[in-house]
Amino acid sequence: MLRIAIQNKGRLGEESVGLLSRVGIEIDTAKRKYLSKAINFPIEILNVRDDDIPGLVAENSAQLGIVGLNEVEEKGAKVNIVRNLGFGACRLSLAIPKREEYTGPEYFRGKRIATSYPRILRRYFEGLGIDIIPVVISGSVEITPSAGMADAIFDIVSSGGTLISNGLKEVETVMESQAVLVANPSLSESDRELLDEIEFRIESDRISRGMKYLLMNIPTESLEKAIEILPAMRSPTVLPLATPGWHSLHSVVESSQLWEKVRQLKAIGAEGILVLSVDKIIL
Ligand code: ATP
Ligand code: ZN
Repeated sequence: MLRIAIQNKGRLGEESVGLLSRVGIEIDTAKRKYLSKAINFPIEILNVRDDDIPGLVAENSAQLGIVGLNEVEEKGAKVNIVRNLGFGACRLSLAIPKREEYTGPEYFRGKRIATSYPRILRRYFEGLGIDIIPVVISGSVEITPSAGMADAIFDIVSSGGTLISNGLKEVETVMESQAVLVANPSLSESDRELLDEIEFRIESDRISRGMKYLLMNIPTESLEKAIEILPAMRSPTVLPLATPGWHSLHSVVESSQLWEKVRQLKAIGAEGILVLSVDKIIL
């Protein structure tokens, strides 16, 4: 049985369950246990701490996993990164007390740097040939400089609010992270086929999330202009209306361009514009 490890709570848990549900892998969340079976797909869901996911997948206790790239890199686990998932975005950065003057990475030579990511930290400074003193701590890294336990920190940043409220400033970004789908490198043929199916569905989900379906009535004389405004997957669908001189036009647009397209369509006489969400696009 194919098994996927996801975070049991925390910042990735809910998004992971949401993504699985959108690709047709439903879990009974009311009874979310350590190990649960999907209702409508041949897969088991293993609910664990995110730190354990890279190792579990590398050892084949789970064949797939959803975890932050930061954890994959930190654990140095032998897993394949199948794809980015577009959520859980953050970065691993170096921060120092805000009154300090930052002079570049040399600033850190001989300094104590508190972190939960010692492997990534060491690799970064080894690459620069700068010796530092890592102070490994599993949580509340941001309070260590004011507590006199460290001179600087290396930690996850997303908005930067936590740094500011602890009197710190971000001075170097060492890596960008987001949630990724990982797989054991030696999947069986049948597990590989299931992974292909899951990937195909994730891709359809990704494409559809940025799209809107648009329907409108358009005066026949404006039809050509409207088709220029709306490049659809092949071309827009055009249907004559019962009222002479009018057509109905259907198309798909990127959400980010929606209002600009609507403005242009109204300017050439479009009426009764309907905008619908797209659930899935299968290319
Ligand atoms: P666990 O008990 O499962 O070990 P945790 O405290 O390590 O929980 P979370 O804080 O839920 O985990 O973070 C899980 C992952 O979410 C991080 O490893 C990172 O990839 C991602 N993430 C995204 N934004 C942030 C953020 N602002 N702070 C921390 N993690 C973030
Ligand atoms: Zn964790």
